[in-house]
Amino acid sequence: MEWIVNGVYLGVAALFILGLKAMASPVRARRGITWAGIGMVLATVATFALPGMKNLGLIVAAIVIGGGAAWWAGKVVKMTDMPQMVAIYNGMGGGAAALIAAVEFARGEVHGPVVATLAVLGSLIGSVAFSGSVVAFLKLQGIMKKALRLPAQNVVNVVLALVTVGLGAWIVVASSATGSANAALLVIFFALSLALGVVLTNPIGGADMPVVISLLNAFTGLAVGFEGYVLGNPALIIAGIVVGASGTLLTQLMARAMNRPILNVIFTPITGEAQAGGAIEGRMKEMSAQDAAAMMRFADKVIVIPGYGMAVAGAQHKVWEMAKLLEEAGVTVSFAIHPVAGRMPGHMNVLLAEAGVPYEKIFDLEEINADFGLTDVALVIGANDVVNPVARTDKTSPIYGMPILDADRARNCIVIKRGKGAGYSGIENGLFYAENTSMLYGSAQQAVADVITQIKELS
Ligand code: NDP
Repeated sequence: MEWIVNGVYLGVAALFILGLKAMASPVRARRGITWAGIGMVLATVATFALPGMKNLGLIVAAIVIGGGAAWWAGKVVKMTDMPQMVAIYNGMGGGAAALIAAVEFARGEVHGPVVATLAVLGSLIGSVAFSGSVVAFLKLQGIMKKALRLPAQNVVNVVLALVTVGLGAWIVVASSATGSANAALLVIFFALSLALGVVLTNPIGGADMPVVISLLNAFTGLAVGFEGYVLGNPALIIAGIVVGASGTLLTQLMARAMNRPILNVIFTPITGEAQAGGAIEGRMKEMSAQDAAAMMRFADKVIVIPGYGMAVAGAQHKVWEMAKLLEEAGVTVSFAIHPVAGRMPGHMNVLLAEAGVPYEKIFDLEEINADFGLTDVALVIGANDVVNPVARTDKTSPIYGMPILDADRARNCIVIKRGKGAGYSGIENGLFYAENTSMLYGSAQQAVADVITQIKELS
């Protein structure tokens, strides 16, 4: 029987990898998710056929309760709340991996130094991923408002990490021979590992959050892979490696997009609290929907920059309706997407795709940044941090060095937002005070609807 299950696992591995490959393109992403989902169902069902499976009733009850809760949450979650949902589900994966190790230690089934080392590493990384993801969830959900930085935070991080790793090494040595470990030692080890996740994630905030979520995701993958080895389950090993590797690549991409080395994210994080930075000169100028419509209707080239505010307002359909009207009037309209716009990787791509914006009109930062100098109007819709030129000019700014979309280099810039609210990083935006920028105040959906009405009047 076992060879049939392993055969199914092999097919599942192929589905996971093909699914992931398909997700790399927005055109095939939906298909990729279906393939990976089918793989997960097959892996779960096949596992029931493994010899020695017990407590089948309990397992089915857990699947029904967990699956039901996830199905319901997936249906009701708002697009803007997706990041915290991803964070908490990711944390569950890390926590589950750590629990597997705890159970195996309790059963005395951790034999030999290699298995013991992987079990301990999986517990440590899984626990950090769990408690760190819970903190990330609480922050993104707005329950935990401040990024708390302890005095001598880095010393605390390093000492706690060393003590936990030391204790882990002790457990490896003690358990290698007997297969189990002292219960009190294990409890202290898990408590320290969980605490490490909290102290590492707690001070991180602001624009660093996407990087940390992605890093914790990679941790979960690693932990699951290690525990797969402990259990001798190839499907877990493959799924863990795939998540760990893709999470690591995503972390690198995000860190590069933010121009933030990963060690800086952990050891010198952006706290997310407003920082003084250099003084910004100029004043904000308000414009009407009528003026905005005229400016764009008679332009040759308009670049739309969507941000978190467009997502909150659910304005993507209106934005595409406006773009189509402008194109009918002979204006060339493109969409520029910053890698960390919104609150999750690919947030804007998903929303624009949902509204029906063709993929060939959507450009990444590197593809489009040089075009701003040749553009009549940059239309910023609910974006803030990703167009903040202080990232280029102000060395004291916490986002200094982060590549931004060069909206300020367009001939004119229109910014749609509700008021003077700051972006995620909590800092002032120099773009809003620039000579060539005008503010169109209002919630994005209503403001764009007003612009559409005015464009129609002009036709
Ligand atoms: P920001 O969070 O910087 O700014 C959003 C702006 O939208 C605010 O200034 C707000 O101003 C405005 N806004 C809010 N609601 C509305 C509305 N209904 N209509 C119109 N405007 C609205 O967004 P960006 O997309 O520019 O930047 C993303 C930030 O989030 C970055 O700092 C990034 O690091 C961080 N982040 C990104 C993640 C990711 O993976 N993409 C994950 C976690 C964080 P006002 O209140 O005045 O309307």
